[in-house]
Amino acid sequence: MNKLGLHGNVWAAGWSHDECARAIGNTAELGFDLVEAPALDPSLIDVAFTAKQLEKAGIGITFSLGLDAETDLSSGDPEKIRRGEARLGDVVSMTRDLGGTHICGIIYSAFQKYMVPATKEGIAGSVDALRRVAEKAAASDIVLGLEVVNRYETNVLNTAAQGVDMCKRIGAPNVKVHLDVYHMNIEEADMEAAIIDTGDYIGYFHTGDSNRGYMGTGSIDLPRVFKALVRSGYQGPITFESFSSAVVGQPLEGILGIWRNLWEDGYDLARHAKMYTESQLKSAHEAHNCGRKGLPF
Ligand code: MN
Repeated sequence: MNKLGLHGNVWAAGWSHDECARAIGNTAELGFDLVEAPALDPSLIDVAFTAKQLEKAGIGITFSLGLDAETDLSSGDPEKIRRGEARLGDVVSMTRDLGGTHICGIIYSAFQKYMVPATKEGIAGSVDALRRVAEKAAASDIVLGLEVVNRYETNVLNTAAQGVDMCKRIGAPNVKVHLDVYHMNIEEADMEAAIIDTGDYIGYFHTGDSNRGYMGTGSIDLPRVFKALVRSGYQGPITFESFSSAVVGQPLEGILGIWRNLWEDGYDLARHAKMYTESQLKSAHEAHNCGRKGLPF
């Protein structure tokens, strides 16, 4: 069964003691299996305090982040690659210490709008660096999820097929593709086909909707997405991600363009997302089972 997760930015912009306790406590109270903590700057996360909160709440944790211009693994600049690798290494250590299973997000390039295309040398450098990070992560059974995002947030991975290609080049079994319905809705020709074609390479999944608000309030055909996920045999985490200007601050709101207040009550939003996701998964599993039945006698 897929573990259901909730992105920490539903509750808070950062990870201070108050924010950490609130994010973990509320996520557990709603019955989610894990919280996805934003690790843009891992040095701001108090590992011992977070461990205590997770233990008290009885849930797990994953981390997501995007690198920045100074830590860009795709930059071709040895110094930036060194810093990027060090940052990811810190996140691997932190994830290991907290018993986490997944690190995901834009961990192969900067998380920004690029003004020029990616280069062959830049991608090769990112592949090499991620191979080294993957080795360290594998020692603690941690999966790296390369999040495929829209063209305004990276110039490296915009489609699921590109994600699979990069995983193949890295060639480590713990490097997988992280898909997100919001980004797929912008870039994929056919979301269902993209999910099926990615298949065993899917390692992490973000749900939400086209406006990044309540599930079902945008234009994405979510029943079709969940049916494809079930058909693909994906068993990993499914995490709900949503942003509102009521919570998110800089630098995230600037990079993601979070200008609108789509919701104020994160509790109501997250409770709905959990019900919606469980209902969609149930329907998708039932549809899958019905569809496979043969002759009655
Ligand atoms: Mn996402």
